[in-house]
Amino acid sequence: MAFPVEINHVKAQGIVRITWDDGHVGEYPKMYIRGYCPCALCQGHDSAVEKRFVEVPDAGLVAIEPVGNYAVSFRWSDGHATGIYTFDYLRSLCPCGECEKS
Ligand SMILES: [Zn+2]
Ligand SMILES: [Zn+2]
Repeated sequence: MAFPVEINHVKAQGIVRITWDDGHVGEYPKMYIRGYCPCALCQGHDSAVEKRFVEVPDAGLVAIEPVGNYAVSFRWSDGHATGIYTFDYLRSLCPCGECEKS
């Protein structure tokens, strides 16, 4: 299982930069993270759709909070904070070209 050694909210660029324990670095636009919020509210109960993207154009990232030792949650400016992003899920979301290929 991939494990992040560093999670940085780079406010000026509107991204979250995650450094993984295998040396991989992923840069996640905050809107992208918000859009793939894994909570039941955002994903609904339609199992036919694997990953639903919820468009929240003005999403502001307020805080990143650890959840146990397996996940983090993101707190958004609209008050939404129910998404638990496991490290595996976050890694699978990595938007870099290298990860998209595999
Ligand atoms: Zn959500
Ligand atoms: Zn990647």
